Parts: sequence; structure tokens; C-alpha cells
Amino acid sequence: MTTIFTMLSSCDACAVLLYMRPFNRVVIGDVANASGKEQLIRDKGVQVDILEDQKGIALYAEYPHGKPDGYRRPERFGRGAQVCSTS
Ligand SMILES: [Zn+2]
Repeated sequence: MTTIFTMLSSCDACAVLLYMRPFNRVVIGDVANASGKEQLIRDKGVQVDILEDQKGIALYAEYPHGKPDGYRRPERFGRGAQVCSTS
């Protein structure tokens, strides 16, 4: 079994890459700051485990505030948002 670990739920592009590659399981640390593709990934046969780690949620919620201009805008964050470190 190959497992991939992510801090947040994936964006559309990463979800497709994830289920097209030989991953059997994804462990998502936090769906409070970004979520939405968990069921799609499950529907493709990948086991999805969500930790909802409170320390990680708090850390990520603070992250954009400590970044200089040019980082993604805060309004993109929040439950249901789709963010990606490569976008
Ligand atoms: Zn992505």
C-alpha cells in the first residue's frame, strides 16, 4: 500500500493526479482550512483518512498572515476553499 500525506485536502488538479497515480491511501491533516475533493477521491477507490489535527489547523490558519504580499489572499481560505501550494 502506498500512502500520501497532505496538510490540506487537494485541489481539483491534485485530486486527479492523486487517483491516477498508484496511491492507495491519502491522509489529510486538515479539512477545516480547505476541503471539497475527499468524496471524489474516495469514489475513485482511494482510502481517505482525515485527521483534523487541531495544532495543524491552527498553524495553517495563521500561515497567510505571516507571509508577505504575493501570497494567496485570505478570502481564498475557509471551509470549502480549494487551495494548492502549487497554484
Ligand atoms: Zn493542488
